[in-house]
Amino acid sequence: MSTAEIARPEITADEPHHAPATTDGFHLVIDALKLNDIDTIFGLVGIPITDLARLAQAEGMRFIGFRHEQNAGNAAAISGYMTKKPGICLTVSAPGFLNGLTALANATTNCFPMILISGSSEREIVDLQQGDYEEMDQLNAAKPYAKAAYRVLHAEDIGVGIARAIRAAVSGRPGGVYLDLPAKLLAQTIDAVKAQQSLIKVVDAAPSQLPSPDSVARALDVIRRAKRPLILLGKGAAYAQADAQIRALVEKSGIPYLPMSMAKGLLPDTHAQCASAARSFVLQEADCVVLIGARLNWLLAHGKGKTWGTAPKQFVQIDISPTEIDSNVAIAAPVIGDIGSCVSALVAGIGAGFPKPSTEWTGAVDDRKNKNLEKMAATLAKNPSPMGFHSALRAIRDVLKTRPDINVVNEGANTLDYARSIIDMAQPRKRFDSGTWGIMGIGMGFAIGAAVTSGTQVVAIEGDSAFGFSGMEIETICRYDLPVCTIVFNNNGVYRGTDVNPTGGKDVAPTVFVKNARYDRMIEAFGGIGFHATTPEELTHALEEAIRSGKPTLINAVIDEAAGTESGRLTNLNPQSAAMKK
Ligand code: ADP
Repeated sequence: MSTAEIARPEITADEPHHAPATTDGFHLVIDALKLNDIDTIFGLVGIPITDLARLAQAEGMRFIGFRHEQNAGNAAAISGYMTKKPGICLTVSAPGFLNGLTALANATTNCFPMILISGSSEREIVDLQQGDYEEMDQLNAAKPYAKAAYRVLHAEDIGVGIARAIRAAVSGRPGGVYLDLPAKLLAQTIDAVKAQQSLIKVVDAAPSQLPSPDSVARALDVIRRAKRPLILLGKGAAYAQADAQIRALVEKSGIPYLPMSMAKGLLPDTHAQCASAARSFVLQEADCVVLIGARLNWLLAHGKGKTWGTAPKQFVQIDISPTEIDSNVAIAAPVIGDIGSCVSALVAGIGAGFPKPSTEWTGAVDDRKNKNLEKMAATLAKNPSPMGFHSALRAIRDVLKTRPDINVVNEGANTLDYARSIIDMAQPRKRFDSGTWGIMGIGMGFAIGAAVTSGTQVVAIEGDSAFGFSGMEIETICRYDLPVCTIVFNNNGVYRGTDVNPTGGKDVAPTVFVKNARYDRMIEAFGGIGFHATTPEELTHALEEAIRSGKPTLINAVIDEAAGTESGRLTNLNPQSAAMKK
């Protein structure tokens, strides 16, 4: 179907009698999205949704076309995280849908609101397995990985379908929603007046959820009795956009706090109460931990074991999802509700007489922090040649310090681990990384999503292996002329580039890439600007230039190929083969 065929006659004041009698599924989907203030679609066109993308653009929405659906989905998800509005990803059927599904699953896992809308083949043929073009039972495939999944079969239900998808994505614990639109639905015609009446503007999609007064009193009681309290901020706290309330809680209570990686910047990392540099110490020593929008999953060693030391602990947990409580360890004081409301209630309960943590505790945290910061400063000051992770990140840190508004995307193994602790964040929701799954492949999708959504500069700090998963999207970055600077930490391989094939055979080791690759030349192929940096000084200069240009840029940062540990800090997750260790 061509654009001309789906174009809707305009109603003009001069021609009142020419009002269209009918509309179709294509128009209704766009009308329903627009009615709900959704202005951008991330996707990749093909049968049967190409005209949907064309129509979206014709109707004033932004359509950002990608080279692979997973990246479009990641862009939509991060946009949802940044705005609290569901990010929309549009894909074709079967393989396109499956590519997008990875991003949908990641969004659900990370509690990012997004809607994956995929065109699908005809139900009658799919259900009888008669062999259609791109035949697949997409709805059922999506269900285990989505917070909710819906299919619309009749044009008059499109309004309801979009409304339900929006509500499911953003209410309660946010997540990924799948919306299945069979090709036939899009072409269905329907009376225009009936169609308009069928649309729903969602009212109060994510209603505030007030905590019960009892739960607040119980939490305050636990905190009041603590000798060594700690606040732990997760990305749920950043998502909630309750920045002022969280700052008030931290500063009024005087309790040291620890941000999870995507909660960095909720308060500036340089804040006097930030305990990031004493992370191990505070996790081990605290006797009361107030979790705010953070789960006790693997990233927090499930709340037990060596990481948490031997000191008995009581947990307070603020979360919107009641079933999160007691998922790993006993929670003494659950506070269920939205973070803004819950934190406000706690702040209201911290009056003048509320005990501050002892200086013995805050002093011990500060001592440990200062000791570790000194150690880190010494490591960062070194200037090895070839450049190492630390000296490269020092150069980047110093440039980014001058631009706290810049969005930072970060993935890799060592590149992620080191950058997370070296690059300070000063503003909320500016750091986007591998998240709950600790995955590779989010890089360019997140970078594009962040650039499109914020309209401001993005710096993506990428391991060379991580970059490979979404690297083709630098064409997308150039096509839309986005202010994204990608820095590839190039050490010639996964983890590092020095492994050898133990047989001495022709194939390189499984972790090794082409040596001395020039990633900077890739972006030049699409009209972007490439830089090649082999020293911290060259890296500083390149990054400054890149940011000044506001153009699509890529810096090939050459790192010592022997630098880097296997799996970064996750070495413990590698099953060790005795034979390989010999
Ligand atoms: P991190 O990885 O930073 O530790 P997680 O993704 O594990 O963070 O945890 C985020 C938590 O925040 C989830 O348990 C989720 O239910 C919760 N959450 C998300 N949004 C809100 C909100 N608006 N109010 C309360 N809790 C929220």
